[in-house]
Order: sequence, then structure tokens, then C-alpha cells
Amino acid sequence: MTTPLTSYVQGRWHTGSGKPATLFNATTEEALATCDSSGIDFGAVLEHARAVGGPALRALTFEERGQMLKALSGAIHDHREELLDISAANAGTTRKDGKFDVDGATGTLAAYSYFGKELGARRFLADGEGIQLGRTARFWGQHIAVPRQGAAVHINAFNFPAWNMMEKAACALLAGMPVIEKPGTATAMLAWRIAQITVASGILPEGAFQFIAGSTGDLLDRMGPQDVLAFTGSAWTANKLRSNENLLRNSVRANMEADSLNAAVLAPDVEVGSETWRMFLRNVVLDMQQKTGQKCTAVRRVFIPATHAEEIKAELVALLGGIVTGDPTQDATTMGPLASAAQLRDVRAGMERLAAAGRILCGGADAVHPKGYFVAPTLIEAGSADTAIFHQEEVFGPVATLLPYDGSAASATALVARGEGSLVGSLYSNDTAWVEETVLGLAPWHGRLWIGSDKMAEQSLPPGMVLPSMIHGGPGRAGGGEELGGVRGLAFYMQRTALQGFKGQVHGCFGPQEAAAAN
Ligand code: NAP
Repeated sequence: MTTPLTSYVQGRWHTGSGKPATLFNATTEEALATCDSSGIDFGAVLEHARAVGGPALRALTFEERGQMLKALSGAIHDHREELLDISAANAGTTRKDGKFDVDGATGTLAAYSYFGKELGARRFLADGEGIQLGRTARFWGQHIAVPRQGAAVHINAFNFPAWNMMEKAACALLAGMPVIEKPGTATAMLAWRIAQITVASGILPEGAFQFIAGSTGDLLDRMGPQDVLAFTGSAWTANKLRSNENLLRNSVRANMEADSLNAAVLAPDVEVGSETWRMFLRNVVLDMQQKTGQKCTAVRRVFIPATHAEEIKAELVALLGGIVTGDPTQDATTMGPLASAAQLRDVRAGMERLAAAGRILCGGADAVHPKGYFVAPTLIEAGSADTAIFHQEEVFGPVATLLPYDGSAASATALVARGEGSLVGSLYSNDTAWVEETVLGLAPWHGRLWIGSDKMAEQSLPPGMVLPSMIHGGPGRAGGGEELGGVRGLAFYMQRTALQGFKGQVHGCFGPQEAAAAN
């Protein structure tokens, strides 16, 4: 029997009346659930958020909204085991990979509850210091930020059904905007169960959280100037959505988190067998294995000094050979299947295109198990680092390409930039001059740069991990968006307004020190 995934709209659970999409168990290929949003009045959903959820949230201070996020984090965490089981079945995640998603969601909510506490008992933010505009201080300027009075529509990717929904919701709710969440259909079962827990907890005011299982219908065509759209998914869909005529006409603010050919670059100073060398190998393998490579931040292009190519190939192939692919619920398994049949088809086709321009060192597109959406971890050696396809084709699975280069910062910068904008780049070097030159060359192409060295190896979190206190997003192909980054993440959901007037009013009511008292 399959579970029909319902939508939570206008204060009630809605069952679709059309032809549903089917969700499958990624290991057994058995049907698990169905998803259907037909019959929803999307204009009314937006209006419910604007008229009911928005005012209720804006009546609260940042601190009070933060307390809600903390309670919500706890309510979801109470169901952790059940959520990990759903993730294993529907998304094919091992327990570790499921925790990465589910604990990522509760951890981000908890982090934003802390940021709310820090912001205190206010309802708007003073942005920077005041500015004297007149001959004397009587004519004064101050920027402030207030919550937008629309709905925050969140369209999320299939690969992080829990984290992706809650990292966006945490920022929006803390800023004071109600959310409408739409998960990727293939793995929507986990997001739906979290939506059920969220609604049943009664923690959020009515209208602050709505959930759509299935298509968004004409939702985007009904969005207005105070609404915002935050999207995570492929570059192709991002471009389609951002060119929606209604969004353009109404200047609807849109944030796009798209795909990325993230690079890892090993500098020539790193000694074979050193701390940094081992960290580099470990992180490349982790990125290929974790979530079966279905991570927007996973490394896809591995740049290695040509002088070390043979040692690196041998070590990576040996480490990848130790990955145990199979049923994610079994303790011995270290890598589960891909999330869906469509993913399996796309990853195999992508592997074949990359392999045609290079050489498979391990893995390949052949079937790994008779049932389930399994592929082997696959390392491809580029014939030449110049070949365009290695900088263009994101294969969203456990696949990476080795690209030998001459070791110079100038070459590394030029080659990495051919990805045309990435979420994260990881550099491995103890040579400060090399790091400085490479960072300055690559920062314009990246939302985040991670620098591995002997000095931080012991304490470092891997580059693929998105932290709520640091920004996530990237220029160009990566979508041009920016999320999280602590309180920076609220800016998207708020209107910045420049106030100009008598200092007694502008500074007195809205200055940085006075903001708390004025609320
Ligand atoms: P996708 O096919 O682009 O879908 C993303 C979301 O958009 C899904 O919820 C999908 O719904 C929805 N969607 C598709 N067409 C739509 C339309 N016309 N109107 C409204 N919604 C629409 O991407 P995906 O396969 O889920 O995710 C994999 C991709 O996401 C990879 O390329 C990966 O790099 C990228 N990604 C990026 C980030 C980041 O933070 N930058 C994070 C994770 C993933 P349905 O599922 O119902 O079609």
C-alpha cells in the first residue's frame, strides 16, 4: 500500500484529485507513496500566507521567533529515528547520510534560534551606523530593514528534503515572513513527514507554514511584489523559473541555488603522505561517497599537480575500492543507491559522456546490483585538463574527474574558473603565497573557498558541509544566489529602506542603539 502525501494549505490537509506521481524505495524499487497537488487554489494559498501568517509573525520579536525555531528543532529531533528510516527507504541514504540531512535541518533551526536571541526584542533591524547628511547633525540618515509583507515560496531539490526545507524556512521565519514549502517530488516523503510534525506541534502561528506535495501549478504566476522565491535545483530549472513573466513584471525577488562543478586543488608543496595530503584524499572520497555524490557542494573536478598524478591515482582508487555499496539499512554498507530511477539514468548517461573524453580509473556505468538505483563510485582521468566537458557537465552522483595541471596558482585559477561559477572550492596547501594568489584569483568565482593545511587539519569540517553561520551559494552557473551566513540570511526576506530626516526622529527611533527600545 502506498502513502498518499498530502499538502498543508489554508490551515488544512489537502488530498489531490488528479493523476499522482509515484515515489519509490530506492533500494527495492517498490512503490512507497504518491504525490498530487491538484485542486489547490494557489492564489488562496499565497493570500493565506500574506493575510494570516505574515501579520502573526511580524507581531513577534526576533527573539520570540527564535524561540519558535528552537522548539521546532526539538519537535523534529524527537522523531529522528522515524525520519532516518523514511530517508533510508525513499532517498536510499545510509544512517550517516540520513543524519547529515535530518540533523542538518534541526541544527540549522537551532542555529537560527540563537541568531534570533542575539537580535533580541526587536521587530526591525538598524542596518549600519547613522550618517550625517546636512550641514549639522539635524539632518540625519539611517538604513533599516523590515520584514517583507508577502509570502516566501521555497522550491527545494530532491537531495536534501529535510535540510533544504528547514535552512530556508529558518531564515524566512526569523526574518518574519511566512513560508510555502515545495520539496523535490522524488524524495518528498521525508519533507512531508517533517511538515506533519511541524503542523501537529502547533509551534508556528497559523499561515506561517504551508506545504505543497507535488506541482506548484500556477503559484509563480500569482506571486506579487512583496513575495519572494527561493529555489534550489538544477541550473536549467533555475533559468526557467527566473524568467517567469509574472516574476519579472512584479520584480519578485528571486534567489537561485543551482548546480556547480566544484573543484578541489592540490598545490605542489603538499608532501606525499603529509597531514594535508591525507586530508585531501579523505575529503575527495567523502564527497564522492556521501549521499552517493548527490550533494550540490560535492567535488566534481580534482586538480592535481602532474608530478604527483601516479601516487594520487593509486591512493584514490584504493580508497574508493573500500566503499561498500548496498542496502543502506545494513551496517556494513557505506554507500546507498541514488535517489531515483531518473537519477540513475542521468548519472549513467553523464558518466558515459565524461568517460568518452577521458579514461575510467574505477567504477563505471555498469549495473552494481540487480535491483535498486545503484552505481559504483567512479573516478575518471581527464586526457587533458583543457577538455571542455569536464568543466561543463555536472554528473550528480558519486563521480569525479582527475585533472592534472602544472601546479602554478595561475593555471589553477584559470582552469577552475572554467566551471563558470561554483558553490565551493577547496584548496590544499601550506604555501601562503600560493594560497593568497589562488584565493584572490578564485574568490570572484566562488561563494565559499575552503583552505586545507597542516595547521587546521585536526579541527576542520569537510568542504562539502554547509554551515549556517557562513554563506551558501555561488556566482554564475551556481545560480548567483546567497543563503544563510548567519543574520545575513535574513536580508533576502527583508526590505532595506533608507530613512532621511530630523535626527531626533530618525536616530531616536531607528538608530542602532535605539532599535530595541523603539520596538
Ligand atoms: P530540479 O529538477 O531542477 O528540481 C528542483 C525543484 O524544482 C524540484 O522541487 C522540482 O519539482 C521543481 N521544479 C521543476 N520544474 C519546475 C517548474 N516548472 N515549476 C516549479 N517547480 C519546478 O533539480 P533536482 O533534480 O531536484 O536537484 C538536483 C540539482 O539541484 C543538481 O543539479 C544540484 O546541483 C542542484 N542542487 C543545488 C543546491 C544548491 O544549494 N546550490 C543544493 C542541492 C541541489 P519536482 O521534483 O516536482 O519536479
